[in-house]
Amino acid sequence: MAAPKVAVVGAGLIGLSTALCIVETCPSCSVAVLSDQFSPNTTSNVAAGMLIPHTYPGTAIHVQKQWFKETFTYLFAISNSAEASESGIHLVSGWQIFKNTPKEESPFWSDVVLGFRPMSKAELQKFPQHQFGQAFTTLKCDCPPYLLWLEKRLKAAGVQMYTRKVSDLWELHSEYDVVVNCAGIGAHHLVGDEKLLPIRGQVVEVHAPWVKNFIRDGDGSTYIYPGIHRVTLGGTREKENWSLSPDPDTTKDILDRCCSLEPSLQGAQYVKAKVGLRPSRQSVRLNREVLSQGGVKLLVVHNYGHGAGGFSVHRGTAKEAARLVGECIAALRGSSSRAKL
Ligand code: FAD
Repeated sequence: MAAPKVAVVGAGLIGLSTALCIVETCPSCSVAVLSDQFSPNTTSNVAAGMLIPHTYPGTAIHVQKQWFKETFTYLFAISNSAEASESGIHLVSGWQIFKNTPKEESPFWSDVVLGFRPMSKAELQKFPQHQFGQAFTTLKCDCPPYLLWLEKRLKAAGVQMYTRKVSDLWELHSEYDVVVNCAGIGAHHLVGDEKLLPIRGQVVEVHAPWVKNFIRDGDGSTYIYPGIHRVTLGGTREKENWSLSPDPDTTKDILDRCCSLEPSLQGAQYVKAKVGLRPSRQSVRLNREVLSQGGVKLLVVHNYGHGAGGFSVHRGTAKEAARLVGECIAALRGSSSRAKL
């Protein structure tokens, strides 16, 4: 069989990281990324990029933990290499704070991040409205540089990037052996997945270089995430809202909430507000599917629906998607050698 041809649909974080894992695990494959938008025009460019997992109710916790651990280990190695600055990946320490002590004082990911511990009474004095908190060090991806870094690695490995809107996965069947669907919220229309819905998120970027520690209200509604050049302030979670325009009243509300947690932000310089649609589902769709039309088959791997936690688990899900692509290729090789007999 000639070099198997793989198309990855989508050039957000999930498409780019999945394409990279496919290249790494199947060097004989010819991989192309097809997408209607590239960085900086994806949801992934809007994200704060903090490695603090979101919980997917429909996925076993041990699987989510494995995805997070693989992602953390991969990015930790990058943060500890000469690539750290270009890739935008860095360690950041801070606090997750709660008005009431949560039922589970240690989340499932507490032994993956570094130095996880309850906050001391002295630390909690910084947050007089909160009675419990967790201190730890995690990783943050500054999203635009990380996406460009992934694109650069793909181009160096010979992956072709095409600007193309795919209306139906079937349109790719005569050109590619395997199609990998990483279309994020675009999968709602592309494969008619009605379980996949947007959760709109607005964030505000400010210049406040004195803010060095992250602060996250335990329910995730308000957060302050310092990056390399800017601080990301959030946020909102608006179910089934498809609007991509920033709302000035929401910007003011985010600034007010963040200033009440970190009063020094009153002196921050506003840079911009950004909006993204989290591709939300009960569980990430990560599976193989064989589509069939009039006796013709198309092998598909789905990897979408990462909701509020794509950065936290992307490498783990990309590795699994690449493994599923490997299974598809083994099946194709099996059928082509049987055909020769
Ligand atoms: P996208 O980035 O949307 O990429 C989808 C790609 O598919 C795009 O390139 C698009 O053009 C392409 N596409 C879609 N349909 C088609 C089609 N028909 N044909 C061709 N191409 C198509 N996660 C964290 O882990 N930590 C955080 O701190 C964090 N903060 C966030 C803050 C906000 C405000 C938001 C909105 C999200 C945040 N997230 C965070 C979640 C994270 O951003 C997402 O889980 C992740 O970006 C999803 O990536 P994706 O590649 O699936 O989607």
